[in-house]
Amino acid sequence: MDKLLVANNVSKSFGEFTALNDVSIEVPKGSIFGLLGPNGAGKTTLIRIINQITMPDTGHVLLDGEPLKPHHIENIGYLPEERGLYKSMKVGEQALYLAQLKGLSKAEAKKRLKYWFERLEIGDWWNKKIQELSKGMAQKIQFIVTVLHEPKLLIFDEPFSGFDPINANLIKDEILKLRDDGATVIFSTHRMESVEEMCDHIALINKSNKILDGKLIDIKRQYKSNTFEVGLVTSNKSEVAAIIEDKFEVFPTDFKTINDELQYKIKIPVNAMANDLVTFLTTQGQVTHFAEVVPSASDIFIETVRNN
Ligand code: ADP
Ligand code: MG
Repeated sequence: MDKLLVANNVSKSFGEFTALNDVSIEVPKGSIFGLLGPNGAGKTTLIRIINQITMPDTGHVLLDGEPLKPHHIENIGYLPEERGLYKSMKVGEQALYLAQLKGLSKAEAKKRLKYWFERLEIGDWWNKKIQELSKGMAQKIQFIVTVLHEPKLLIFDEPFSGFDPINANLIKDEILKLRDDGATVIFSTHRMESVEEMCDHIALINKSNKILDGKLIDIKRQYKSNTFEVGLVTSNKSEVAAIIEDKFEVFPTDFKTINDELQYKIKIPVNAMANDLVTFLTTQGQVTHFAEVVPSASDIFIETVRNN
């Protein structure tokens, strides 16, 4: 697979403190890559290195196979974690100014800004002063300015912090659309819902070290525990429950249903087959529910960080 961005063995210290220790990532073209980790893990430090704001002590970063150079900044749209706008300027004026800094002509910038302002339903903000905007409102403007010049790589540092759930969802959908239109996206977060919904690939950083990375679906397969959620209708509940609890490793569960049934999470041995479990269950009653328990990104995050 083609990589748009590769970071090789990047380390960075601030005085005695190592903020990144030999971290490597590979971001496939056209993917959404989630940079995950607890607060202080080193995510922003890595993002600032990719944006050439900070230099790594050792290691290097390649964009499309080339070592990073100042001119690459044109190919990157970056929404920093610390977001500042000039308070006294008007929204439209400021957006136009920032867009022109990205190399767009005034006419082109205006055209694209109009499109985005309509799209994010903020057309009537054009003449407002920045200081009149809430944090989330200002962040919408910054999101627009980040994507306006259609860079091939988009980097969002904690894009959802500061947004209410409705606007977070709106921005999520816009990021997915930008990916579908061909952009490659890196975003950092410690919120796992957005990871489930968005990421193709992830890297988990903890205490300056990368402790897990890969395709999210592969990582989920690796962490699966051969556990199945089961619903079973039987006229003889207590007897069947005793048989199941004797035969299998079971955990309580509680899912919504229209039946009065036995409900379990059943863990089967690594080499056992789901079909054999189903076959057995059919000898005990009516199987009304059968689903593999897939580990969530949140479960994986917590387990990996805790074991680290
Ligand atoms: P994250 O984005 O994962 O929350 P950061 O990359 O911002 O973490 O920070 C990682 C660690 O590096 C933190 O302990 C932070 O205090 C430290 N750090 C980051 N930048 C600097 C700096 N310029 N000077 C000193 N320490 C820094
Ligand atoms: Mg950060």
